Amino acid sequence: MKTSEVMDFIKDRQVEVVDLKFGDFPGTWQHFTIPVSQVNSELFDEGLGFDGSSIRGWQAIHASDMMVVPDPETAMLDPFSEKTTLSLICSIVDPITREKYSRDPRYIAQKAESYLKSTGIADTAYFGPEAEFFIFDGVRFDQNAHEGYYYIESEEGIWTSGKGDGPNLGHKPRHKEGYFPVPPTDSLQDIRNEMIVEMERAGIVVEKQHHEVATAGQAEIDLRFDSLTRMADKMMLYKYIVKNVALRYGQTATFMPKPMFGDNGSGMHTHQSLWKDGQPLFAGNKYAGLSDACLHYIGGILKHAPALCAFVAPTTNSYKRLVPGYEAPVNLAYSSRNRSAAVRIPMYSPSPKAKRIEVRFPDPSCNPYLGFAAMLMAGLDGVQHKIHPGDPLDKNIYELPPEELKNVPSAPYSLDAALDALEADQDFLRQGDVFTQDVIDTWLEYKRSRECDQVRLRPHPYEFMLYYDV
Ligand code: GLU
Ligand code: MG
Ligand code: MG
Repeated sequence: MKTSEVMDFIKDRQVEVVDLKFGDFPGTWQHFTIPVSQVNSELFDEGLGFDGSSIRGWQAIHASDMMVVPDPETAMLDPFSEKTTLSLICSIVDPITREKYSRDPRYIAQKAESYLKSTGIADTAYFGPEAEFFIFDGVRFDQNAHEGYYYIESEEGIWTSGKGDGPNLGHKPRHKEGYFPVPPTDSLQDIRNEMIVEMERAGIVVEKQHHEVATAGQAEIDLRFDSLTRMADKMMLYKYIVKNVALRYGQTATFMPKPMFGDNGSGMHTHQSLWKDGQPLFAGNKYAGLSDACLHYIGGILKHAPALCAFVAPTTNSYKRLVPGYEAPVNLAYSSRNRSAAVRIPMYSPSPKAKRIEVRFPDPSCNPYLGFAAMLMAGLDGVQHKIHPGDPLDKNIYELPPEELKNVPSAPYSLDAALDALEADQDFLRQGDVFTQDVIDTWLEYKRSRECDQVRLRPHPYEFMLYYDV
């Protein structure tokens, strides 16, 4: 919608309050709300002030006055509010200089798109994420897949508990067999359907939903591709809808990549392609029907993968997912055939328009604005420098003998290692000042001090198993 259309919409739909949302540095939506009396068309140019000092990773207290500038194109009715609420996604600007804020993830995504155009290589980059997540119920806790206790509340409010998985009435999916029998084994069909209906109402085109492989309520909802910033906006909305619909059902949804030991984790495979003047640039006559530009894009992604992981697999928990045996990639190779490769070329359709790559190491704990922008910058670096990705690896990488894998690099083993890789390899992100030096330094400092150090400092439950009786 344009600004004037938003103003008409507010009147026609009798909107009562307007909710202003923006993504913080790590990738969570923050918001504040104004009554409709405070809304006029100037709001969309001038913005509205707020205190940015308590927003994670942003301004220090002495320079904390900031402004949100809502993007009218993102207007939608928020389905999770009692009052009739118009929701708007905002960009952040400095109130004095009126410049866009360099640590606003949405601005970084927009700069990546402008940089793409400025190279002349392409005018549009499409992104199609396949986020997975877990839905857990409020009454049953699995300590881990094998040794959990269950807690069940009856309709009369009586609690029973015991060791083991609890009664399942014969319908519980077996370990790693969640993909994908019909109900009643699949007990989450209604809740996923409600999620996709809310997504479509909010203007997100959904391709499909299904139960995923993990036993304990793993789900996947796939969205139709869109351009970079729009797709990142949609991923933020996606998470918002998933979590709030889960709550309607008394459930809780999590995008942490590996909540369950011994079962599959949650990835966010990200399909990508470049287009120019309405023509796809990734189709050609090389391996798997790819063009040279596409092979070079893959070359850039693989070359910079360890540094990219700092943005696309950005939590300490991400590295519990990137291990062999759970359909998550470990080795940095590409293939059209197997899902153990870091980059896969889907072969669903022979159409040049469908030609794309699927990058498999990202997970849904990533800030989509930063993750998509970083991947585009890596791929573009590959195209600009004609980085060939080497030979494809059309074998099941999990089962290859070590000598065949000796020359295939691995994804980092930890967030610390990914952050070190980013520190050593950041020039590709700095092109066009898309990621400023301050953004990279702040990211490194934030992730090291607030996440890596905090996890390292705490005794781990498994250490009690190993060491309690030493
Ligand atoms: N859950 C797997 C992962 O962690 C992916 C399963 C699939 O191929 O969809 O990447
Ligand atoms: Mg999946
Ligand atoms: Mg996939």
